[in-house]
Amino acid sequence: MVIFVLLPAFDVMRFDIVRQRFYFFGAELWISEFSIIFLSLMFLWILVAAMAMIYGRFYCGYLCPQMIFSETAATLEKSIARRMARRLADLSPVLRRSIAKAAFYLVLLPASIFVTFVFVSYFVPPLDLFHRLMSLDIRTAGGIVGASVTLITFLDFALVRTRFCTAICPYGYLQTMLADKHTLLVHFQDSEGNCIHCDKCVRACPMGIDIRSGPHQLECTHCAECVDACSDIVGKLGRKTLIRYAWGDAGEAALTAVPAASKPAWYRRIGFRDGKRIAILVLLTVYAIGLSIAISLRQPVLVRIMPNRITLYTMGTDGSIHNRFRLLASNRSHAKATLDLSISGLPAARIVDLNRDIVLEPGESLQREFEVAAPASAVAPGVNHMQIRATVVPAQKSGLLDETFIAPMESTAPQKAPEGRQR
Ligand code: SF4
Ligand code: SF4
Repeated sequence: MVIFVLLPAFDVMRFDIVRQRFYFFGAELWISEFSIIFLSLMFLWILVAAMAMIYGRFYCGYLCPQMIFSETAATLEKSIARRMARRLADLSPVLRRSIAKAAFYLVLLPASIFVTFVFVSYFVPPLDLFHRLMSLDIRTAGGIVGASVTLITFLDFALVRTRFCTAICPYGYLQTMLADKHTLLVHFQDSEGNCIHCDKCVRACPMGIDIRSGPHQLECTHCAECVDACSDIVGKLGRKTLIRYAWGDAGEAALTAVPAASKPAWYRRIGFRDGKRIAILVLLTVYAIGLSIAISLRQPVLVRIMPNRITLYTMGTDGSIHNRFRLLASNRSHAKATLDLSISGLPAARIVDLNRDIVLEPGESLQREFEVAAPASAVAPGVNHMQIRATVVPAQKSGLLDETFIAPMESTAPQKAPEGRQR
């Protein structure tokens, strides 16, 4: 639950739809940086698939907000019903149940608003969302979405709960498909006939199944509630639990004391039990390294310059030749940046129609048109090659962008230049 709340609050993982940014472990990726976003999503996907293959439905049992809040809602409802039964013992059972239900809904409503707030903050800046919530905004699109999600969340935790996992959620089925003969499962193992048939494991199961029927039940989320329930009951009789985590179909015990002599190697104990798992670990490592390199190499200020070839060139009144360019600049950092452009590789060429220093606020993108002018005597007829140097301050990073400068094919001696500009 803490992870679910903290991920968007600290921009560890958040997709900001409004600003079109993807936050990944503190890095702010712009939607234009598709390759890095793609790498990040692929890394997450392989991580999720690897977890499902090695540790089964670990996500469902321990990380899924739907499961966490469903279990919390069920526990809360039972606890309120018990308290009401004690305190309102004089009332009729029907009235008592109705009051308990109403009290539960009263608690569930603010809880649903909180869960919705956290969920929506994965897609909208949390501060913006907070202001909308405080002003009870149900007029704008964002406010209507927030109110609708709150209602769905309320109904989900009031009525649907874990039925969502078996009837709607595709991810549960997907994880089951990724499992193989070595995947961690919850097993009932009772070779000595110690089960006392108390059914506590069945009553504790949030999915309402009996793990004694087998470890491969589709509904089983591997939450281990039945493990705790059995530990409790048979522990009182001085025995060890009959339900435990175990690896794959063979049911080799995991996380329990195994005699030192028969202890498997450490890599087998943490789940790396065949070549497929080693291969996926290598793949994950390669992706993680690639992703770290890509994030560390990304430019805080993105500069693109394109020639505007609607007009190949124009002539200045002084006989100089002008080419038009378009500048696109985005400041992807959190600090103000200044951009300076200069020409190299084309003698006496200069930039006109553009401020020398272009100031970019954090997160700002701008477009500008500018011209490069060169004396006719300094350029060759036709295509000339040059570079535009873009220097970013305070990063003090500069990059050379290869561009072409077009001059007329015929001679353009200054004395023959017509008045004004011509095509
Ligand atoms: S059978 Fe056990 S592990 Fe599976 S869902 Fe029920 S309580 Fe959780
Ligand atoms: S809780 Fe343990 S002892 Fe009781 S029925 Fe389940 S497996 Fe048997």
